[in-house]
Amino acid sequence: MKMYVDVLVEIETKHLDKTFTYHVPKELEAEVMIGKRVLVPFGARELEGYILNIKDSSEMATKDLTNILDAEPILNDELLYLGKFMQKQTLSSLCSCYNTMLPKALKASQKSQIKVKKEIYLKLTASLDELLKEPITSAGRDVLSLFTNADAVLQAKANKVSASAVKTLLNKGFLVLEEREVYRYNLDSYQEEQPKKLNAEQQKAYEKITASFGKPQVFLLHGVTGSGKTEVYLNVIADCLKMGQEALVLVPEISLTPQFVERFSKRFPKQIAVLHSGLSNGEKYDEYRKIMRGEVAICIGARSASFAPFKNLGVIIMDEEQTDSYKQENNPRYFTLDILKERSKIHSCPLVLGSATPSLDTMAHAHKKIYAYLPLTKRANNASLPEIILVDMAEEMQARHPIISRELECLIIERLNKKEQIMLLLNRRGHSTTITCSNCGFTYRCPHCDITLTYHRTTKNLRCHYCGYTKYITDTCPNCQAKSLSYYGMGTEKLEEYLEEIFPTAKIVRMDRDSTANKGSHEKIIKDFQEHKYDILLGTQMISKGLDFPDVTLVGIIDADASLNIPDYKSNERTFALLSQASGRGGRAKKAGTVVIQTFNKENPVLQFVALNSYQKFYAYEMNIRKTLKYPPFYYLALLTIKSKDYEQASNEARKAKEFLSNNVSNETIVLGPATANLFFVNGIYHFEILLKYRFDDKIMPCLKELDEMILLNKKVTLDIDFHY
Ligand code: ADP
Ligand code: ZN
Repeated sequence: MKMYVDVLVEIETKHLDKTFTYHVPKELEAEVMIGKRVLVPFGARELEGYILNIKDSSEMATKDLTNILDAEPILNDELLYLGKFMQKQTLSSLCSCYNTMLPKALKASQKSQIKVKKEIYLKLTASLDELLKEPITSAGRDVLSLFTNADAVLQAKANKVSASAVKTLLNKGFLVLEEREVYRYNLDSYQEEQPKKLNAEQQKAYEKITASFGKPQVFLLHGVTGSGKTEVYLNVIADCLKMGQEALVLVPEISLTPQFVERFSKRFPKQIAVLHSGLSNGEKYDEYRKIMRGEVAICIGARSASFAPFKNLGVIIMDEEQTDSYKQENNPRYFTLDILKERSKIHSCPLVLGSATPSLDTMAHAHKKIYAYLPLTKRANNASLPEIILVDMAEEMQARHPIISRELECLIIERLNKKEQIMLLLNRRGHSTTITCSNCGFTYRCPHCDITLTYHRTTKNLRCHYCGYTKYITDTCPNCQAKSLSYYGMGTEKLEEYLEEIFPTAKIVRMDRDSTANKGSHEKIIKDFQEHKYDILLGTQMISKGLDFPDVTLVGIIDADASLNIPDYKSNERTFALLSQASGRGGRAKKAGTVVIQTFNKENPVLQFVALNSYQKFYAYEMNIRKTLKYPPFYYLALLTIKSKDYEQASNEARKAKEFLSNNVSNETIVLGPATANLFFVNGIYHFEILLKYRFDDKIMPCLKELDEMILLNKKVTLDIDFHY
């Protein structure tokens, strides 16, 4: 009997999203398994793909597959299922879904060159005592004396052994060479730490979660910053490991929160793998294999870790669940939460969503009792919440304090005198956001995008924050040659410059995407700040997350309006979360904290709720707006972007798409647009948008799929579908 396989080939374009059948040559039959990667002929090329099906007949003439690439399947049943689930949810190609789920070394792609790292070891061929009875030179004896027992192996390089003596021992058959796999990444080891005694609220949360072991219950652990959520996770995980099960812990971005991982390693030494963007591809591959092989029981990671191939999950934790980065920004635009819910069902295990400022969607689920609600209302170590002051910047402008208000300046000086630390948040990187000639009115703009170029002082160039275009700047206007360029708009670099000027003796450090471009630089800044090598840490939203510095007693939000003014239905929600998070950085330990929020909109309700520290009031206010405007969580959104280098083509397809949708979706669904996108012209491409607002419309997905296929026919136009809820 013959054997055939259906292979999903690595081409990621949507219309090739079907499998191709290949015949399996006799000599490869024994190795064939669903989920393994194979090499197949495809047209004139050879491509990689995944085996999705095995069968004993084929209606069509088939070519032979070339080779089987894996010893073990890299897609197990669960991952095979999750890929299909993701494909349905995001309307992306199945191959792109599988490739998103796997570390680079395991993707079906010919480009990856990541191999297992091996080192050479020396091994005794008999017991040490026996070998020492043989006639051996004294150099040989020196080498042998490094072995402590018969099974001992010696890493040849790490021990300074005489190469010629080793060679002799090898020739005589006293030693053999052995190649061993090594992992490129290992967490630092720390002194093991004992659990803290939980307070009443923590204890209750812990009991509720552990009582749900074995059930796919979703929990919302809603605790203000510093309320001890992490401590609850640690206790839950300890119980989970005791039962012989595994734990998956998702965090927004580990490299920003090394302290989080450190606490886990102190409690569970040697049981943790980490997966995040700060690791090299080789390191990720190694961490992934530790999980596959069952050598660790906990994985802490960012979004991509949701696919960690554990086989027996006992609990899943998603910390800071409201964070945007949990949704992938490019195709397939999957929601981490959807994947985790699916896994919690598959493994029948609880899923814990932790947050100080839950997303409205999550809170709405808790209100409806779909998620079990676990509040932590107090800070765990009895630290009080910080005092929050709103400062009206219109008044400060008149008082000639446009950057740092008088109040914030006084407080900074006071903290500096007391040797306490300060964090300042400005969510805009670079130096100046607009460079304009005051003589002729010329403004530097990106030639490919619809925005002004940002000046970066450290690199002395102008940069487009959308497409990465850069340009050198001279001190004369390129239009009128006058030496009259003015720098408007302030980013972190300009703020740093200004702070150095007004606090000349303070030690200041900046943390943003530019100052942390090198590997390990986040960690260094955080560690140095922790060790009080600096007085002031200034930075973008990077500094607002999860960091725990006991000596920080003052937090300043330099421009609270920046995030409020972004035209997006979520900007209130994001602002509330960002400011609450940043405020939470202050006064976490014994010393009380103060937070100063600078704004031109002092009366803005969102800022008022931040100042009152009232998530509940914010929630009620914002839900009302969402309901009125038909936004999530009351409606689902699908944002369709029609893109082309050709303006006419994009505009025509957009109009046709609108017509098609209006005729085919249900009457209750709202179809808005087409309109030009906020970023209409980016990187030389025109963007048109159509927005769908819908509730329970089972025609939506089939309709969007059909539209997608229709637009695919026009090679000059692409359609991007982005769901929001
Ligand atoms: P969150 O994760 O909610 O921000 P953490 O778990 O980081 O809170 O706790 C904040 C601080 O309080 C940490 O320094 C932690 O060690 C401490 N802490 C947490 N729980 C307790 C407890 N039950 N008793 C004493 N200290 C605690
Ligand atoms: Zn650009």
